[in-house]
Amino acid sequence: MINDPSQLVQRALENGATHAALLSPDAVEVEGRLAAFCRDPRCPCFGQSMSCPPNVSGPATFREKLTQTQYALVLRLEVDTASLIGEERQEVFKVLQQIVSETEFAAKSYGFINSEGFAGGSCKGSLCGEFDYCEVLAGTGSCRNPDTARPSMSGYGVNVGKLMKVAGWSQEIFTEAFEQEIEMMWLAGLVLVK
Ligand code: SF4
Repeated sequence: MINDPSQLVQRALENGATHAALLSPDAVEVEGRLAAFCRDPRCPCFGQSMSCPPNVSGPATFREKLTQTQYALVLRLEVDTASLIGEERQEVFKVLQQIVSETEFAAKSYGFINSEGFAGGSCKGSLCGEFDYCEVLAGTGSCRNPDTARPSMSGYGVNVGKLMKVAGWSQEIFTEAFEQEIEMMWLAGLVLVK
């Protein structure tokens, strides 16, 4: 067990996050109306994997998880816009899944053994894109990527924009990287440290 949980911020950065911040669980706002957006208007990922609605337990369960959480470790991955809207899109989401899951494992190794990671996007596209179906949903086996696949924050109604604001980061989808003169976008992840 480490005494200083801020070391987890460093681990998240080492794992590839552009920014990471350790917040109070009270900073995580959960809204049913946000979770409902997965169904209407229907996200293409809806019902495609075990990590997205209607196959995740939703806002009420997430609020319960927060009551058991000591720290909310919020992560942000900034990537150039061309990568996120182009052929590399799913690869970028895969990287996010890896950062979140590796940081969750780090938290567990430090003694927060019930820590749970959540990522933006759907594991069906980023981790199982070459398959026609989710193995778990099809009932043909267990998850192909248990060490990496983490549920979508959207399905639990997490207000990601609010998290960005509390962490002190821009909520704008596009972020100008003036030094590089390229336009950047961001993706978010969250580890409930407990
Ligand atoms: S089998 Fe693939 S799509 Fe299904 S939960 Fe695992 S990673 Fe996601």
